Amino acid sequence: MIMFDRLKKAFSNMVKGLSEKELSESDIDKVFSEIEIALLESDVAQETINHLHNKLKGELVGKRFDKGKDTEEIVKDALKDIMLSIFNNAGTIDVIERVKSKKSKEKEPYTILFLGINGTGKTTTIAKFANLLRKNNISTVMVAGDTHRAGAIEQITEHANRLGVKVIAQRYGADPAAVGRDGLLYARAHRVDTVLIDTAGRMQTSKNLMDEMAKIVRVVKPDLKIFVGDSLAGNDTIVQAREFQRYTDFNAIILTKSDSDYKGGSALSIVHVTNRPIVYLGVGQGYDDLIPFNAREFVEQIVEGNSMSR
Ligand code: GDP
Repeated sequence: MIMFDRLKKAFSNMVKGLSEKELSESDIDKVFSEIEIALLESDVAQETINHLHNKLKGELVGKRFDKGKDTEEIVKDALKDIMLSIFNNAGTIDVIERVKSKKSKEKEPYTILFLGINGTGKTTTIAKFANLLRKNNISTVMVAGDTHRAGAIEQITEHANRLGVKVIAQRYGADPAAVGRDGLLYARAHRVDTVLIDTAGRMQTSKNLMDEMAKIVRVVKPDLKIFVGDSLAGNDTIVQAREFQRYTDFNAIILTKSDSDYKGGSALSIVHVTNRPIVYLGVGQGYDDLIPFNAREFVEQIVEGNSMSR
């Protein structure tokens, strides 16, 4: 999983291009035009690229450099710091810790709403999450909150059965907010620690979908709202995230399909655009293929091309 391969080339060209002097704005522009291509090829959104460009100018214009390898290191370090501050600004959320904390303090189930467009891997992610929670001795009930898409209830039920988890469902066409409430009542009555709520990902209009999501949020009042995005869908994922954020004000992000042809740009862009942290990455179709997101490791990897450890 090598990302931003082209950055390497950008840096080596840059070092050749710079003389021993104070860096001017046009030096940075020249260098950045190479970096920009690398970023674009890695699916970084244009507004995030512009942000990196401006910040890099702010950091480097007027600095004195000796010709040679140091310059590359200085630019790379500046770029890493800027990227890292995008992730740091969004903060971090330890979901397991939050669930445990509520369990010990309030003895109330912790509810998590999963949001996102069909096909991104939302249902699979819920199953992976139930598996992760179980490994941490946290019990779950799943809620079949997508009452629109044919097959959605059966799909989540199949995952639940495989994992030995209870699923709360009603008929197709039922009000998902009511199904969510049922899940919460079940968890309270049976002392289940968490309620994982699936939601619809497509409807006649985007407005209908967003209104439905906003209603579930009002009725269920989830402790956590996680946007599930497809890391391969590029700008579509960013557009979707923005819209879901407007209607649901989600707290955290899981990016799926970060295993296959993943170039990394969507992770950086989605956090920059939403200012919400990525809590996990989906890295395959199995239940164990959910790994915590590590911003420092990620930044190191995209700038240096190091492979990410699992
Ligand atoms: P939903 O419509 O959003 O609920 O999507 P599904 O959970 O049905 O997933 C759609 C497809 O993506 C399925 O074939 C999943 O196995 C696959 N999928 C989900 N997450 C990942 C992932 O992290 N990596 C890979 N390679 N495939 C995934």
